[in-house]
Amino acid sequence: MNQEDFPILNELVHGRRLVYLDNAATTQKPQVVLDAITEAYSHWNANVHRGVHHLSQVATQKHEEAREKVAQLIHAHSSEEIIFTKGTTDSLNMLARSFGDAMVKEGDEIIISQLEHHSNIVPWQMLCERKGAVLKVIPLCEDLSLDLEAFKGLLNEKTKLVSVAHVSNVLGVVNPVEEIIHLAHERGIVVCVDGAQSVPHLVMNVKQLDCDFLVFSAHKMYGPTGLGVLYGKKEWLDKLPPAEGGGEMIEHVSFEKTTYNVLPYKFEAGTPNYVGSYAFGKSIDYVQAIGLENIAKHEHALAEYIEQELNKIRQVKVYAAGKEKAGAVSFNVYRADGALIHPFDVGVLLDRQGVAVRTGHHCAEPLIDWLGVPGTVRASVGLYNTKEDVDVFISALKKAIMMLE
Ligand code: PLP
Repeated sequence: MNQEDFPILNELVHGRRLVYLDNAATTQKPQVVLDAITEAYSHWNANVHRGVHHLSQVATQKHEEAREKVAQLIHAHSSEEIIFTKGTTDSLNMLARSFGDAMVKEGDEIIISQLEHHSNIVPWQMLCERKGAVLKVIPLCEDLSLDLEAFKGLLNEKTKLVSVAHVSNVLGVVNPVEEIIHLAHERGIVVCVDGAQSVPHLVMNVKQLDCDFLVFSAHKMYGPTGLGVLYGKKEWLDKLPPAEGGGEMIEHVSFEKTTYNVLPYKFEAGTPNYVGSYAFGKSIDYVQAIGLENIAKHEHALAEYIEQELNKIRQVKVYAAGKEKAGAVSFNVYRADGALIHPFDVGVLLDRQGVAVRTGHHCAEPLIDWLGVPGTVRASVGLYNTKEDVDVFISALKKAIMMLE
């Protein structure tokens, strides 16, 4: 699907055609996105919102049009609910700071899960330390699904917020966030969904999902780095205080009292990444022209094919085998005597053959500890990957195993 739109895919790595299977870490950018960045700096670069001059007005309009595109992408009620951040990590830190300041006190509880990315652990841990609150963790079942019975047992009147990944960045597994949201809302508890790995791979509808907050990064969806989104229901964003102070987020400033700007600007201190938002708008146009459902179907088929081919290799163990996945498959390789071949060694030998995968703890150490391994090898697909890419990867893996066994 559309490999020719991505110039980087023509690069040779160690003399081989690049097979890029590290899309969960970041995606490559189509030419339209690269052109948008050059266009912005070449033709209309100016700081937004503050200028009466022409370029500033053009830049402001393009930045706000991009916000509209994001709102449409995730089916938000309005673009006021779209806050531009630096990325998923920044969004989660901002939420933990703002929600925590306003809503969390000593003895309150925050719930996350065993399989979260560090970005969805550490900001909540820091909040708990600041406030004397307690972090609770949804455990995993043997089959690596979230233990929803245990989750029900964790919910109580002290629970202030639940924050969970929609799709695990390690396992690729789609978590039952609808049910988690339903169970939490029955008790009036707020839910944040980490959509870093779901927004690029699924059709996202925050109205249907009914999450209170959703966070994701542009760079994982063919957009630029340094840009992310914090979606929040307007009723919540209205209620919460800004997490950062500075220009843009104010209405009036005096030494006695500062008043804050309207949504979404109240949460956007300083000069925003308007070139990034414009380029992200182009990547949204790009994926929408192909169709998010078509992309999801294509990636789902590829992930299934990867798993099927991995299962044929005797030495390979796939994690969460047979589970519904979106985009990523994690595995390890074992010698005949049962000893694990370090994922790093597998990754290096794949790289020598032009195949880019990720190895290690994938910023999810508690999950990796739970699995009892030093890390995994993760192959993750994007819209431009093909069955042929998978065949190259599998044959490179077989060669690597022969060398390492
Ligand atoms: N959450 C999940 C599930 C992720 O996969 C990632 C990145 O891999 C993040 C959060 C952090 O995203 P970023 O590094 O773009 O802030």
